[in-house]
Amino acid sequence: MLKKILLLIVVIVVIVFGIIIFNSQDKDQNQADLKVVTNIYPAYDLVSQIAKEEVQITLVNNQGVDPHDFEPTGKQIAEIEDADIFIYFDEISGWVDDVLPKLKQKDIRLVNLTDSVDLLEIGEENETEHKEEGVDEKGEKHHKSFDPHVWMDPQNMQALAKVVAIELSLLDSTNSRLYETNSQIYIQNLDLLDTSLAKNLEQCLVNKIVTSHDAFDYLGNRYNFEIFPISGIDPSEEPSPQKIIELSKIVEDARINVILFETQVSDDFAKTIANETNSSVEVLYSMESPTTSQLEEFGDYVGFMKENEKSLTVALQCNK
Ligand SMILES: [Zn+2]
Repeated sequence: MLKKILLLIVVIVVIVFGIIIFNSQDKDQNQADLKVVTNIYPAYDLVSQIAKEEVQITLVNNQGVDPHDFEPTGKQIAEIEDADIFIYFDEISGWVDDVLPKLKQKDIRLVNLTDSVDLLEIGEENETEHKEEGVDEKGEKHHKSFDPHVWMDPQNMQALAKVVAIELSLLDSTNSRLYETNSQIYIQNLDLLDTSLAKNLEQCLVNKIVTSHDAFDYLGNRYNFEIFPISGIDPSEEPSPQKIIELSKIVEDARINVILFETQVSDDFAKTIANETNSSVEVLYSMESPTTSQLEEFGDYVGFMKENEKSLTVALQCNK
């Protein structure tokens, strides 16, 4: 009898443990399922706002390296090739074009966010500069006729939040309601940001800004100010002495007294123009490659844009 009871206990224990192990495996698979890889921070922010903890998100272009020059490591390439879905902004980092053929072969879902918004063409001025300064073959290939910095317009980010929620739901229908709800919340936050920017940048004494590189046309286009970049679309293009003189004249004529610079590129030329025109300098974030400490300080896309709002309010001399 005792043997039978012991045997019964053993059988019960085995069954119970079996169920626990089976369930936990099942749960693990569900939880860690979707591997999402993004190329630059604004794409990472979109996915993390909408998916929260539900997916594994990788940001390839990290640690404050300018994406126009960034090259992923072998380990990162392996991570990209192991993804379920690659969500990216086109034409900002050359390496994306290099990995796409392999990702297509591997049947990884590709989401080019740039395809879902209206694009601005690169100004005539920049195109001429490219030709005059002899951009290398790679540069020509990676900078077509449109401006890639689409995320700088919060209304574009609203449209892209919908795209990301749909794309994640297609691969992970179990969480589709969560993705939908989170995207709605994010769209509302972006709406508040948009309203605040429109209000605070409406009445300003100046309507021109000088920036490090040509990353802010979508922002200026939305809130009605003009951008005079020191470098072109590619921040590593150095301005000619003639360009510095021209920009200094624009600064004086437009009564600009703040030059805006970015932290991921050299601020030398911004400081030269500031010195020559008796202006001060402020940071404007393009969010192409925030540093860890900036991420800790500002938190997310909206946080960075609130900082930009402060700098722009000063640079454009608004609400005075
Ligand atoms: Zn850029």
